[in-house]
Amino acid sequence: MKKNIFTFIFQSPDSEVEEGAGGVERHKVNRIRWGFLFVITLLWFLFIYILFYWNLSRSREFHIGENVRAARSFFEMVVVARRWNAEQGGVYVPVTDKLQPNPWLKDPLRDVVTRGGMELTMINPAFMTRLISEDSSTSKLVDFHITSLKPLRPGNAARAWEKDPLKDFERKKIKEYWYVDDTRERFHYIAPLYTEESCLDCHREQGYKVGDIRGGISVNFHIPEQRIWPLAVNMLLVGGVGAAIILFFGRQLIRSFDTVEKLAEVDSLTKLANRRRFSLTFHREFSLARRNGTSLSMILCDIDYFKPYNDNYGHPEGDNCLRHVARALAEEIKRPGDLLARYGGEEFIVILPETSAEGCRRVAELLREKVEQQHIPHEFGAGSPWLTMSFGCSTFCDEDISEEEFLNRVDQALYRAKEKGRNRVEG
Ligand code: GH3
Ligand code: MG
Ligand code: MG
Repeated sequence: MKKNIFTFIFQSPDSEVEEGAGGVERHKVNRIRWGFLFVITLLWFLFIYILFYWNLSRSREFHIGENVRAARSFFEMVVVARRWNAEQGGVYVPVTDKLQPNPWLKDPLRDVVTRGGMELTMINPAFMTRLISEDSSTSKLVDFHITSLKPLRPGNAARAWEKDPLKDFERKKIKEYWYVDDTRERFHYIAPLYTEESCLDCHREQGYKVGDIRGGISVNFHIPEQRIWPLAVNMLLVGGVGAAIILFFGRQLIRSFDTVEKLAEVDSLTKLANRRRFSLTFHREFSLARRNGTSLSMILCDIDYFKPYNDNYGHPEGDNCLRHVARALAEEIKRPGDLLARYGGEEFIVILPETSAEGCRRVAELLREKVEQQHIPHEFGAGSPWLTMSFGCSTFCDEDISEEEFLNRVDQALYRAKEKGRNRVEG
């Protein structure tokens, strides 16, 4: 089969080996293993997905935290400047076209004229904050707003979003409030302004006492857009590499399992299926035949006079002979459901599912001839100058017998073949 990345990942190692009954079992097991591997890979991606969202929310929290810290600093700078102004009892600045006296400031010393004739007007903390705020409103980066629920100047009235936090400040429910607007590009922060001794000069009439909340200052500034894609790309890379590693090593593991399992079912000398594989297949085929009412045939065969062969030609030559016979027998077992296995020392067994007694005998006869035609010299047998084999056949169909009984029957048939002079088929 042509190899590509798809076959490399998805093709079961089994598809490269000859399929016997055990192969079909292994195929199923391998499919389950591959399914398991894909579940692990999916779980890995789920883990990466959760990690991505966790990282994202952590980075959003961090982002918000940074903005809150920045807003607090802005706020604190305004409060410090206001306090300084209040401590001086206000400061005077020249009256200009742009800067006119504050009509809301009821102070007899609001407007003074210097000896030189220059008109000065008093800037109190609130007026100063308003002037800065008006200046800052043209800035795209940051603006301030001094506000109150009971403003002396209507322009200081609370904006829609500022009202609830101001009420909550008065109820002492919160100490600060912030939110990011829908564009996700502007951060809004508000914190309360407490009445200090220096504020009472102007605000005593409104009934304020030291420590009362007078209102608040909101700070509004632009925040950079938070980019998701660098994190998403990172996570995708980690996820992809992880999945590739899982699939690669998982595939190696499945192949190793498969090889070990195959080796556990193969006879090392003849490379045929071993006794274990025979037992598993026999058990399954026997149950299937009984359930479906189909016939099942079996051939047990044994090399004639193999002991003298070993004794005279030597054990290594005996091994060669076993390999040779195994190859010859395998050449005649062609149907995909059939199984040829090494049963014991010089005994082989064939399972023929859905095969009649007549068909079974025909196969056995073919096998017998095949071995004889190999012309393996055996001078120490009786009769034939070549190595021969005896065959016992048995078939069961719709009978109430056990596996052991069926095996016994085949064994008996082989025994009869030996009794009747060997190199023959009985059953
Ligand atoms: P029969 O015709 O009645 O079957 O006579 P036999 O000599 O073949 O029967 P027996 O069971 O007495 O001998 C079986 C011999 O097979 C015994 C042993 O030396 C030989 N044998 C069994 N397994 C192996 C093997 O793996 N390698 C070799 N070389 N010989 C084996
Ligand atoms: Mg024997
Ligand atoms: Mg023998």
